[in-house]
Amino acid sequence: MARISSLLLAIFLVTVAADAQFPQPDGGDLEPGALPAAWTTGGPKCMEVPEWQVHEYNPNLFILRQSGCTDAEMPFLYLFFGKDRGLLWDTGSRRGNLAPALQHVVHDWLERNHRDQITLIVTHSHSHEDHVFGDAAVQGIRDPAINIQFVAPTVKAASAFFGIENWPSTPGQVDLGQRQLNIIPVPGHDDYAIALYDRRTGVLLTGDNLYPGRLYVKDFAMFKASTERLIAFLTGKPVAHILGNHIEQTQTPFKDFPIGSIYHPNEHCLELTVGTLLELEDGLKSMQGAPRRLATRDFTIWPVDPKEHGLGPQMDQIFKETQAEQIPNKWNQPAHR
Ligand SMILES: [Zn+2]
Ligand SMILES: [Zn+2]
Repeated sequence: MARISSLLLAIFLVTVAADAQFPQPDGGDLEPGALPAAWTTGGPKCMEVPEWQVHEYNPNLFILRQSGCTDAEMPFLYLFFGKDRGLLWDTGSRRGNLAPALQHVVHDWLERNHRDQITLIVTHSHSHEDHVFGDAAVQGIRDPAINIQFVAPTVKAASAFFGIENWPSTPGQVDLGQRQLNIIPVPGHDDYAIALYDRRTGVLLTGDNLYPGRLYVKDFAMFKASTERLIAFLTGKPVAHILGNHIEQTQTPFKDFPIGSIYHPNEHCLELTVGTLLELEDGLKSMQGAPRRLATRDFTIWPVDPKEHGLGPQMDQIFKETQAEQIPNKWNQPAHR
């Protein structure tokens, strides 16, 4: 009898272990999603690479990545759907031709959800050209199924739309219909910059402020204050992934791809954690008000001269050399770089 009981106990324990997903601790009720093991970049054969890679994180959150064959920036865009409205984060870089890819995704979502029409809010992480280039094309969409509600990438327009009362100190928000998105002002890389926290998935979008790559800091004091503001906002909130706008790191710790690269074999993953955000805060603090370049495993803090347009002559030269080498080879890139 004792033997049977212990056998039953063993079976019970095995069953529990196989199904050991408890609703606690906090965060267990976040809507899950999946990220790809690797993203398409710009090759090896540009003829085979679509202008936009569409990834379904889950049925109501899509990630679009622009091909490096069209532009070396290769930005990521995010498309959220709620019960009532959708929201697009950024419109891509030069030669993006976003409208057809965007319409395709929205049409498929509508069909899947047995709907005829949706309002799509178009908003931006910040105002730099590699994230707003597709604005005119998106505003020009004439599609009975898609009603574009455009929010200009300015402090004024975003503050009014998201109800940010005191830029940059107080957050704003938007409800897409059973989907609350919090908007946190994070100027410093750009005068207008926001982060977005999705309450449903626990995904945090950080734009160009934090991603695996070169974090260009224009206004150091502002950038540091924004990083601290973002961390304070996240207190007590579960974060599934921190997702930024670019990937410039390789899979080798501390090593980035040369500026201007269109093809990223063995690229760092997109997703970062709150640990990385804390590491960014720590790095900024360690400078004690004297900005300097600081490389970490997954990103580099990269102060730029606020008076300089762009990244300066040295970086421009590297960009030109990389492009001169890679663009002619884009139909058949070498497997490793
Ligand atoms: Zn930027
Ligand atoms: Zn950017």
